[in-house]
Amino acid sequence: MERAVAAVAEEPIQLADRVNRIAVSPTMAVMAAAEQLKAKGVDVADFGAGEPDFPTPEHIKRAAIKALEENKTKYTATPGIAPLRQAVCDWHAAQLGSSYQPAECIINVGGKHAIFNAVCSLVNAGDEVVIPAPYWVSYPDIVKYAGGKPVIVETREADGFALQAADLERAITPRTRMVIVNSPSNPAGGVIPNAEFEKILGVCQKKGVWLLSDECYSHFTYGDAKPFSIASVPGSKSRLIIAGSCSKTFSMTGWRIGYVLAPQPLVSAIGKLQSQSTSNPTSIAQYGALEALRGPMDSVGTMLAEYARRRERIVAGLRAIPGVTCNAPQGAFYVFPNISKHYKADMSNDTAVSKALLDRAHVAVVPGEAFGAPGYIRMSYATSLDRIEEGLRRLERFFAGAQ
Ligand code: PLP
Repeated sequence: MERAVAAVAEEPIQLADRVNRIAVSPTMAVMAAAEQLKAKGVDVADFGAGEPDFPTPEHIKRAAIKALEENKTKYTATPGIAPLRQAVCDWHAAQLGSSYQPAECIINVGGKHAIFNAVCSLVNAGDEVVIPAPYWVSYPDIVKYAGGKPVIVETREADGFALQAADLERAITPRTRMVIVNSPSNPAGGVIPNAEFEKILGVCQKKGVWLLSDECYSHFTYGDAKPFSIASVPGSKSRLIIAGSCSKTFSMTGWRIGYVLAPQPLVSAIGKLQSQSTSNPTSIAQYGALEALRGPMDSVGTMLAEYARRRERIVAGLRAIPGVTCNAPQGAFYVFPNISKHYKADMSNDTAVSKALLDRAHVAVVPGEAFGAPGYIRMSYATSLDRIEEGLRRLERFFAGAQ
């Protein structure tokens, strides 16, 4: 009997194709490696994490505590509580100039879930989805999970890593179903200029392709770049999907609240998908999000001012390292320096450089390859100025060949 059990246990598990098509997020892998070192007591200068280092603002936490105390702990409507859907529409209209009704809005379990559900509701097996590189790591895998084919379009450092409408148009084929844009972008901090964004929308409309705009970093812009939604353009809505999130804007990553704004039939389809998978997002998190969207926005401004200071410092520090070049990001909270001049026999690509940085200098970064952009590394500056200074000192020593 015992032998029979052992034989069964050794058999490899045949997983479903849809899961075999995707991989664990490489950014999560870096975080795990850094965590392992930290657990051994190593002082890691951690630029890996893509999340704000600020606590969730107090008034938002209070609202969720109040909801808990009032026993708002039951199932809610699958697409989210009615006041939250209304608040998303009102907030988006006031902040970004759109005009959506609650029937065109659904609350999801974070922005990633918003994108996942939108892609799964629209993409059929073999459909092509255009993704500009460098891209957020999850886009290609979400498309693959849905059975679609990611079509990667390179952007240029000289264009601030922003997609150009002409490059998009060249990539569109009769099989193209969707294009996913992210402005401001993770990992490169690229912001698509408003006029170019309108051209991109025009290309999508002309070709009958859905435009999915991931606005997760909408409120973190620097210099001349300002928060902008393509949904503010008259006539934009028919083939447009807005995916938004409370995660970064309000420092609410753990709360898992995102949303989709899109034509009502698509929102209904996403609701159907949600009704057979996650059901509603967590009830008390929805009440926190309601306060985030209806309450004061001061904390967003405070966070942005701090990110702006850190951005100045980290860009200047990286540019001072011989052989490293660094574009000034226009948004989000990442820098994306090119480190390819430092390749050598034992560090011949960005993944090897990132590994050596963690092992030898105890600096955690994410290799550009993970974002479809070899030659670069991503560093999040959602960490204190002190840690940025320490990290820069280590990088200087490392790239000077001292480690
Ligand atoms: N989109 C981009 C570009 C991101 O970087 C992230 C998170 O890192 C998300 C969406 C999803 O965030 P969340 O699921 O926490 O809302």
